[in-house]
Amino acid sequence: MYSPTTFFTITLIVAANLIAATVGFPVPCLPSFPDDLSEQITSNSTALYHASIDFGNMTQVYPAGVLRPASDVDIAKLISYYYQSSCPVRVSARGHGHSIHGQAQAANGVVVEMRSLHDSKNSSIFVSCRDGSHGSDCYVDVGGGQLWIEVLLATTKHGLAPRTWTDYLYLTVGGTLSNAGVSGQAFRRGPQISNVLEMDVVNGKGEILTCSPNQNSDLFYGVLGGLGQFGIITRARITLEKAPEMVRWLRMGYTNFTEFSKDQEYLISLTREEDGGFDYVEGAIVMGANGCNSNSNGNNWRLSPFKDFPQFEATEDTIFYCLEAGKYYMNSTDQNLVDEEVKRLTSELHYIPGMLGSKDVTYIDFLDRVHQGELKLRSQGLWIVPHPWLCLFVPSSRILEFHDVVFKGILSRNTSGPLLSYPLNRNKWDQRMSAVVPTEEVFYSVCLLRSAVDDWEFYEEQNRQILRACDERKIEVKMYLPHYTEEREWKRHYGEERWAILLERKAKYDPRGILATGQKIFPFPLPSSIFQNSTVLN
Ligand code: FAD
Repeated sequence: MYSPTTFFTITLIVAANLIAATVGFPVPCLPSFPDDLSEQITSNSTALYHASIDFGNMTQVYPAGVLRPASDVDIAKLISYYYQSSCPVRVSARGHGHSIHGQAQAANGVVVEMRSLHDSKNSSIFVSCRDGSHGSDCYVDVGGGQLWIEVLLATTKHGLAPRTWTDYLYLTVGGTLSNAGVSGQAFRRGPQISNVLEMDVVNGKGEILTCSPNQNSDLFYGVLGGLGQFGIITRARITLEKAPEMVRWLRMGYTNFTEFSKDQEYLISLTREEDGGFDYVEGAIVMGANGCNSNSNGNNWRLSPFKDFPQFEATEDTIFYCLEAGKYYMNSTDQNLVDEEVKRLTSELHYIPGMLGSKDVTYIDFLDRVHQGELKLRSQGLWIVPHPWLCLFVPSSRILEFHDVVFKGILSRNTSGPLLSYPLNRNKWDQRMSAVVPTEEVFYSVCLLRSAVDDWEFYEEQNRQILRACDERKIEVKMYLPHYTEEREWKRHYGEERWAILLERKAKYDPRGILATGQKIFPFPLPSSIFQNSTVLN
């Protein structure tokens, strides 16, 4: 006999399907779970609550169940069950839940907890090298739910490391590859998506496919930067290099944005290792504080303190621009050579005379620097608050105007969090991938990383105001970690040609539109009419 709850649930499912059959388009159903995953799927309230929120802390959406897969086969079983079912159900991978706008949520569907694939006993990080190679021909196979910090610690044990990073390492491989993975190394080594050789992906039909530039290449390029739309990444093969041991870490202060960005653009033009130059270039904007070293100010929590950084008398109206650069080296490198190269490079820059700080740190400490800021914010109870973040890619030709309109105008000193601004080279991005960047050769990554202890809607409105201001002035920004809710906005984000490619790939790899619906690119349930004008690839 059925319990009253089960009976009620079945009645609702039958009713929903009857309505679906009658009206001729899919209706979302109350999900049933595949019997053979009953051990792995939970609906306990703690698990559902955890899957209902994210770092952004501004939206809460409950799933009906959480899958804790033991292997990619469990993920494939789940998706294949819903793919074949008459009742479409949302399925979203959740990496570390560091999205801002609910991108990993699955309303009334199933959230796949990717971290459960890799508990402390079950790491899947395997380093391989071609015989005789010394770092130049090595790669690491990594599970999609591994954190980058885990990848760093595992690979450096072999004296190797991935070539390019995010600023913060407590993000999953699958989560950042679904966006791009950008940090100060990307001007030279490309974003993380440009450093992937191969992946295993469970697509929206429940098939486990290996893809690379030579095998299922449309899936490979689609998934990289693909916002989870075509499949769940369960393994990625990532290029490695010999891990540097030390970093000479520099910070230089400016009060003139034009000089600051000119110097940044000069430094990122030195892309070839043989040109010398820095291995890492970023920049932060600090308003009304005491220079580029103020770590006491909550707005500035990401700036690690530099012991000997000079104090600078400034008024509340001063805006500081802090150029950050890193030069990698080995313990065995002659310190004089590092000194000479850094001296040569800094002598060509235009920071305020004397306003330079420098320290030598280990490579691991350098890469893990933002974690120190996190620990500090956590201790002050400021980590788990709403985060109305906005990241934009801004064409270099419009960055001065953007600066005046946004940093000097709209924000008017009310920053409430770190502001980043640094240039990147477009030629390090492969345009076959799904990630979208401006058409100019140099563009800036500008991120307003704000925390809202009070009214997060105020900051969200300010973000919309920034987008409107760019629109009015025809500054063709592209949103990174995009969050739009209307089809017309997504079409504009991708542009006509890329939108058509997106539809083709969606029709081929997730034709029922069940994956990563939290991105809100497609309606759910997905009407088949959406593919009417797209050519479905074989
Ligand atoms: P989640 O938030 O869990 O998921 C993000 C999206 O990817 C969802 O749509 C989800 O369904 C999908 N997804 C997750 N796992 C998979 C998978 N295995 N296969 C397919 N789809 C999947 N980004 C940068 O580029 N550079 C930075 O320096 C940077 N720093 C950050 C610092 C902090 C403190 C935070 C909160 C974010 C930062 N980000 C940065 C943004 C970050 O890269 C994205 O938010 C990323 O999605 C987070 O990864 P996650 O593992 O938490 O993904």
